Amino acid sequence: MQHDYDLLVIGGGSGGVRAARMSAATGKRVALVEKQYLGGTCVNVGCIPKKLFHYAAQLPTQTHEAIGFGWSEVKPSHDWSVLTRNVAAEVQRLNGIYKNMLQNAGVELFEGVAQLFDAHHVTVGDKKISAERILLATGGYPWKPDIAGIEHAITSDDFFSLPHRPERTIVVGGGYIAVELAGILHAMGSQTTLLHRGDKVLKNFDADISHFLQQEMEKQGMAFQWNDNIVSIEKIADELQVHCSSGSVLKTDCVLFATGRKPATAQLGLEAVAIQCSRSGHVVVDEHFATSVPSIFAVGDLVGHKELTPVATAEAMWLVDYWFGSRMRERIDYSLVPSAVFSSPEVASVGITQQEAESRYGVHDVEIFRTDFRPLKHTVSGSSERMMMKLIVQRSTGRVLGVHMVGAEAGEVMQGFAVALQVGATKKQFDATIGIHPTAAEEFVTLRTPLPRASH
Ligand code: NDP
Repeated sequence: MQHDYDLLVIGGGSGGVRAARMSAATGKRVALVEKQYLGGTCVNVGCIPKKLFHYAAQLPTQTHEAIGFGWSEVKPSHDWSVLTRNVAAEVQRLNGIYKNMLQNAGVELFEGVAQLFDAHHVTVGDKKISAERILLATGGYPWKPDIAGIEHAITSDDFFSLPHRPERTIVVGGGYIAVELAGILHAMGSQTTLLHRGDKVLKNFDADISHFLQQEMEKQGMAFQWNDNIVSIEKIADELQVHCSSGSVLKTDCVLFATGRKPATAQLGLEAVAIQCSRSGHVVVDEHFATSVPSIFAVGDLVGHKELTPVATAEAMWLVDYWFGSRMRERIDYSLVPSAVFSSPEVASVGITQQEAESRYGVHDVEIFRTDFRPLKHTVSGSSERMMMKLIVQRSTGRVLGVHMVGAEAGEVMQGFAVALQVGATKKQFDATIGIHPTAAEEFVTLRTPLPRASH
């Protein structure tokens, strides 16, 4: 039976757009349905605006650090509306680029909510479209708990269009988004408290890294409220009163929940075709990204292997190659996905943590190389910010299992080390690599002495 399309993609985010574009480039008939904005979370309310706000947040510190280098003191003032307007303009430009890329590739675009009808049919409003294959790529959304007054709280989706900088903010959570947005708000002059139900940030990162970042954030004057949670929020005049499980009542202007993201399955009509989901609500797929219905596939945050844009695009490219290409593409190695947290200072890592290495190989087969220091720039800038680097090595094979860093430009530094780990680099090869002097990154190739056993 001839279908309207060879491929119908639901969701115009990083994964969906890449799959649609690449499939169309092989000559296939492709359509894409998007209900909101092209580019998905990353372009509209994630990576891109976040990184631009991260740049904005670093600038006042740099102005202050310039004094040590002889620049006279300036008291910068900030216009929040200029920042949000300029960031929104860039996002809009990217939306346009995504649209052009799809149209130039010959992908037919539909605006609206797509609902699965059966294994080969989707409805969009009153249209019914058929396709040989359907790809679900609707991503995720930020989740906030159902507590009294939750309507007064915002999520990362609302953050980038706040009309002005809140004077005081409480950020709830201890993960990527909480740490990044709390850092941005604090640096931009909002009196910020990070309130977390646990007792440390970034709990899935190397424990040393999360501890070091926390110390640096404390040094900058950010407030933390550990082992606590919000039970209700009241709006009294212009102020929010936040009631916590500890019994404390905090007054603030803005409460931002960064308490995780959930897969966006609600409008897909998965029940109509009996697509299997996991307990966390993610769509279950096999090794070829096929769902429990063989003609329907899923990639990206909806599947949740790793909720990162480059993972969604890698999955999309793998799948297109599997369907229409050489089928020679290597499987995605999820164990070596690098990532960066655009906190202040930044965190980045690739490979496994000390804790994972020790439980996998035993403490005696793991060597730890670690350094922390004041970066050269700050010997003159006067900033007390420090940097930390850590290598996890398997003693018996010499393989570098993990590279971790806290410090300026950690994201930029880590990309190259991700390549090194991808090709199985050993500590010996790190040692044979000549450093670039004077840089911070050269520390990674000059670490010679493992930590004594007693201290790890
Ligand atoms: P995370 O899963 O990283 O963190 C969620 C945080 O919320 C955790 O600290 C968790 O606590 C806490 N939490 C969860 N449920 C509750 C609750 N009911 N009450 C109070 N606290 C709660 O999610 P994020 O929202 O920060 O980010 C989602 C994902 O998006 C990330 O995992 C990452 O993959 C991706 N991302 C990547 C970025 C990057 O690459 N730079 C940037 C932003 C997001 P606990 O630790 O106790 O579970």
